Amino acid sequence: MDLYEYQAKEMFAEHGVATQLGVVVTEAGAAREAAEQIGGMVVVKAQVKTGGRGKAGGVKLADDPADAEVKAEGILGLDIKGHVVGKVLVVAASDIAEEYYVSFLVDRANRNFLCMASVEGGMDIEEVAATKPEALAKVAIDPLAGVDRAKADEIVALAAFPADIADQVAELLVQLWDVFVSEDATLVEVNPLVKTPDGAILALDGKVTLDDNADFRHPGHADLADLQATDPLELAAAKKGLNYVKLSGEVGIIGNGAGLVMSTLDVVAYAGEEFGGVKPANFLDIGGGASAEVMADGLEIILGDPEVKAVFVNVFGGITSCDAVAAGIISAFSILADRGETPNKPLVVRLDGNNADVGRTILLEAEHDLIEMVDTMDDAARRVAQLAAQGA
Ligand code: GDP
Ligand code: MN
Repeated sequence: MDLYEYQAKEMFAEHGVATQLGVVVTEAGAAREAAEQIGGMVVVKAQVKTGGRGKAGGVKLADDPADAEVKAEGILGLDIKGHVVGKVLVVAASDIAEEYYVSFLVDRANRNFLCMASVEGGMDIEEVAATKPEALAKVAIDPLAGVDRAKADEIVALAAFPADIADQVAELLVQLWDVFVSEDATLVEVNPLVKTPDGAILALDGKVTLDDNADFRHPGHADLADLQATDPLELAAAKKGLNYVKLSGEVGIIGNGAGLVMSTLDVVAYAGEEFGGVKPANFLDIGGGASAEVMADGLEIILGDPEVKAVFVNVFGGITSCDAVAAGIISAFSILADRGETPNKPLVVRLDGNNADVGRTILLEAEHDLIEMVDTMDDAARRVAQLAAQGA
């Protein structure tokens, strides 16, 4: 999960990193009030989970509260790389003497952690990396040793931070490493890290990505999720404990096992080319011991997606046998009817593996109008793509 700048900086502050916190507002009038509270010049900053806000006009200095309202008015609703600004951070403006860059991240290619640091920070760090790679120090971090003061000094020396602030930057690097490790982050980035005219060091921006796999160690991280910005179907699926990802196509997909579902997405996308580019509408893995309840929950989510025109249930019976899955599909229909969500989209079912014959018999005998059985995965993919194209 990516954090907003204001969340990242609150996290920084908890770990002792010098930064400026402000007030987050969703209306221009509230930005004026926040500026009044803060006093003096403020910066109004778009809170969106993408970089390059400054260049896109999402970061503006304001002279006084009235100006803060005007600037917030202009930034709220702005579309920054597909992210519509719904809230802005109003924060005391800092005087800037110099802008630097520091980050800790997972270096996948080298199976290690990496620190990057540069005295040429600010808005164009990607350009520095591309055109002046010698200005961007890259230091591998041994995960067992971490970043102690000696390591931080080494980074500061390699990046050639000025002597007058070397101590402060080294201390901040140790604190940022503490954020990285103790919060289970995969990215902690500060750009710009600024030096103020009176020689103080300050994290002016913050970008943090948390490792969702470590959520169980951080009960507090759940509160950082922005539920309003999450896809409503994904949110509903998460509440039901389903492994669901919304995609942009027309064929709803349900399968058991992540590998099977992934290959189902592929065969449906391939088959869909023949029918005007029909595509999978989602990933949904109902897992091993899929009960009727889980099948009903899965179907409810998928049928609730207005873009879905047809559904493909692709099951390879293993520990959960096909007859249990078939019975699950039938009772899912009645569970949904009880919930007032009577299914009305065609379902193509492919059953194979453990007890496939019994499963198919159950579905045949149910004589359900919407359910069609196809024996092979490729043929089923072709049929469901065809149905989706007809329904579109
Ligand atoms: P980003 O463009 O999304 O990375 O947003 P930043 O938070 O990094 O802000 C972009 C730029 O705005 C910074 O590099 C600064 O030059 C400028 N900026 C941000 N906050 C302040 C501030 O408090 N005072 C001044 N003078 N400039 C600021
Ligand atoms: Mn920045």
